[in-house]
Amino acid sequence: MTIKHHLTEDLLMAYSAGNLPQAISLVIAAHLSMCDECRARAMAFDALGGAVIEDDVAQMSDGSLEACLARIETLPQANARAPRRADGILPAPVFECIGGSLSSVKWRPIGLGARQAILRSSDGEATARLLSIPGGAAMPDHGHSGLELTLVLQGAFHDGEKVFGPGDIEVADASIEHTPVAEAGKVCICLAATQGPLKFNTMMPRLMQPIFRI
Ligand code: ZN
Ligand code: ZN
Repeated sequence: MTIKHHLTEDLLMAYSAGNLPQAISLVIAAHLSMCDECRARAMAFDALGGAVIEDDVAQMSDGSLEACLARIETLPQANARAPRRADGILPAPVFECIGGSLSSVKWRPIGLGARQAILRSSDGEATARLLSIPGGAAMPDHGHSGLELTLVLQGAFHDGEKVFGPGDIEVADASIEHTPVAEAGKVCICLAATQGPLKFNTMMPRLMQPIFRI
């Protein structure tokens, strides 16, 4: 699996700071469980966040930056977030959220052969859902007015010129008009998180807040 579309720095930093809605965090955790590259970047942010907190308490001394960087390099590899695909399709964080494999998902038809299942990590701020789209069909109108993350678990879709395959994540927001279409052939299964439409005005400041604090 070659992953071409990754998480943004902003999202990784906000995830590391732990301030994102559960639904958004679930999709990020799922991508991290599939993607070595983003997992390494997330670990660096975790380490930096920890180092900043410690440096606030301890006296800064000569060479503390070098010491910090050296510590980051010697951190054990991401055992806690080791890549796992619990049932071959669902990443471990999704498997845990559902409490079972793909066969235990309670799908609801949403028209033209597409199905969805709203996951329980959804709340008033953001909604997480699994989508199952027949090959060649367009994604149903999901009406996002804010941040939207779409992670491919099986099959592929294209959005304009860009093709998203297993492990790829599309980061979209209200400024992007798009019509994702499943590639012909295999059913495309995605995990998507969309920010509640009424929350748009409060969401972006919340995303930026942990970044400025770091
Ligand atoms: Zn990645
Ligand atoms: Zn969208």
